[in-house]
Amino acid sequence: MNSDRLEICPRCGSDACYVTEVNENINNYFCYGCGFQSNSLMREGEEILDDQMSVLPELYKDLKFEDKNGQIWFPSTTNLSNEGMVFANGSSVNNWKWSAVKAIKIPKEDRIKYPKPGKKDQYYKYRMDMTTIKHFEERDFMEALSYIGVLPS
Ligand SMILES: [Zn+2]
Repeated sequence: MNSDRLEICPRCGSDACYVTEVNENINNYFCYGCGFQSNSLMREGEEILDDQMSVLPELYKDLKFEDKNGQIWFPSTTNLSNEGMVFANGSSVNNWKWSAVKAIKIPKEDRIKYPKPGKKDQYYKYRMDMTTIKHFEERDFMEALSYIGVLPS
């Protein structure tokens, strides 16, 4: 049974909030309108929130959003080794954008320069090419995903 569905995002109001049912009581939320994500357990006083707060970058913590049901939302991070990455980037909540970076294929003869940590004779085939970095407004999150080829443009 496919229980995935789209809902209205409590943060940005778009109807592009993708809900994935983990089990009867827990859903994951990923809004393609504003790029923020959440989980049913993400609430003040919950361990999962403390865990997030201890690892997230300052900007992500500053952008923390609590919806009217007390559920906490953070900006998402997309990191796909063969495609690229999209992450919130900036100096403050009033001055940030989505940054998108494309992954490029490493020529065979250069791969020896990109060993996989802890793995003998294994090398990366792609690397993030920081020269491709492009910035997108918050509401243009989907364009950022399209830019790295994750969504059709
Ligand atoms: Zn949203």
